[in-house]
Amino acid sequence: MGALRRVADVSSCVTVGVAGIRPRLNEVGMGTLFIDGRWRDSSSGQTRTIRCPADGAEVAVVAEASHVDVRAAVQAARHAFDVGPWPTTPTPQRAALLRRLADRLEGDCDEVARLESLDTGKRFVESQTDVEDIVAVFRHFADIAAADAGRVVDTGNPAVSSRIVHEPVGVCALITPWNYPLLQTSWKVAPALAAGNTFVLKPSELTPSTAIWLTGALAEVGLPAGVANLVLGCGAEAGAPLVEDPDVDLVSFTGGLRTGKTIMAAAAATVKRVALELGGKNPNIIFADADLSAAIDNALTAVFLDSGQVCSAGARLLVERSIHDEVVDTLVSRATQIRLGGPFDPEAETGPLVSAAHRDKVEAYVADALADGADLRCGGRRPDDASLDAGYFYLPTILDQCTTGMRCVGEESFGPVLTVETFAGNSAQTTEDAAVALANDTIYGLAGAVWSENAGRTERVAGRLRHGTVWINDYHPYVPGAEWGGFKQSGNGRELGLLGLEEYRETKHIWHNTQPAPAGWFLDRSR
Ligand code: NAD
Repeated sequence: MGALRRVADVSSCVTVGVAGIRPRLNEVGMGTLFIDGRWRDSSSGQTRTIRCPADGAEVAVVAEASHVDVRAAVQAARHAFDVGPWPTTPTPQRAALLRRLADRLEGDCDEVARLESLDTGKRFVESQTDVEDIVAVFRHFADIAAADAGRVVDTGNPAVSSRIVHEPVGVCALITPWNYPLLQTSWKVAPALAAGNTFVLKPSELTPSTAIWLTGALAEVGLPAGVANLVLGCGAEAGAPLVEDPDVDLVSFTGGLRTGKTIMAAAAATVKRVALELGGKNPNIIFADADLSAAIDNALTAVFLDSGQVCSAGARLLVERSIHDEVVDTLVSRATQIRLGGPFDPEAETGPLVSAAHRDKVEAYVADALADGADLRCGGRRPDDASLDAGYFYLPTILDQCTTGMRCVGEESFGPVLTVETFAGNSAQTTEDAAVALANDTIYGLAGAVWSENAGRTERVAGRLRHGTVWINDYHPYVPGAEWGGFKQSGNGRELGLLGLEEYRETKHIWHNTQPAPAGWFLDRSR
């Protein structure tokens, strides 16, 4: 835990806001890789400096794994799986460990939230909420660890028992993004452990601090050495060798579409099981018969929460033509009042983008949309406030008069950018048909929402949307008991719910003949 302490020390310096950070740069190598129960430096000696996106302040220096370290981590996980005892530990004991972890997380909520906010720039209160969600995720998988313990199949022969049992898949590579670092990690680590797997975790190179905390905490609550291993570093150096390693049985990845395709192709070489949680370009549909006050307020949260860096962000507003002006004028007025600031600024309502490179990408999407004829109603630039200059801030942006052909509508900008499209019925299409056609006109299928006071209409539209989560008269909430995942190019497989545990289980059929006898198929000619 020594290495973990050093990172945590950095957060404990933060009491009054980002300006109060006293970065404590450590000796070269941080011992922040965790392999076979031991903190280690990188074998290459390489390190990475983590900076807070709100002001560029140094947060920590962490080890950057080489392919040698990745191989060592996979071998440790392989050994821990093949030799045990974790895969054969009784389920109640595995569940008890998850509960101890949840309790520990609850007790350390503020420390963990500070680490998350320093890495991501996200508001501290949002990180606290994330930690509460993560506690619930660990408890959910502890609760369902023994769910569906298998079944007996009737063979019609009383001498033969036939049963279906579940076993862990094996060594899991868990690869996560930067936007909800520990939350996305918990959706993988909790079910992987509940099912008895061992794993190598590779968080985003931008936001490793809470993964370091989690790995240390798992050891402290009694997880055997080798079950949880941590490698840090970028996709090419630490992620790719993990996916390619023949000793890995399953890859669970959350991140962008392009990376997901690369991972799927690489995993094919040894036919690994692959679970992908990819991006989304999520339609938020407002019909004229909606409760407009609720719909408009939620439309802001849908897209501008965490500056739009949310996979399920409602970045595509689809509004019925007759209410377009009222809805968009109000949204513009509200969006221009949103306060930007660092994670510990009590006045801030949303934070920065995660990096300079990411802000460049968002700016390019907006520039493309304007070149394609979109109407910039607000934002579209960095804030004037000089106190924000050192961070990667970008103003909440609304682009009207958009169409599905625009790159900014078809692809994820993953920033605070709302594109507005309108729909209306005509002689060939009902209003509902027009809304559904527009909402489904995307390669993605992660999430969407429909707003209307007509319950029949909302049910009909929800049933026709090709998206993995549909909110009716709401946006963003989720519960650990409900499956999460995408249709189409938003991914495959499901996290959370009951299926989130299934991802990490193999199914085995055991046939037991209690009265063995010759099969008698081939004649025994020796007699
Ligand atoms: P990313 O694809 O750039 O990186 C994700 C992770 O993959 C990182 O840890 C990265 O280092 C690693 N990686 C990169 N190249 C790799 C390779 N060749 N092999 C193995 N690993 C590699 O994504 P990001 O920018 O970190 O995250 C943003 C994306 O994540 C968005 O597209 C967002 O929609 C998506 N996301 C989806 C969900 C969901 O539930 N569907 C949730 C959160 C984020």
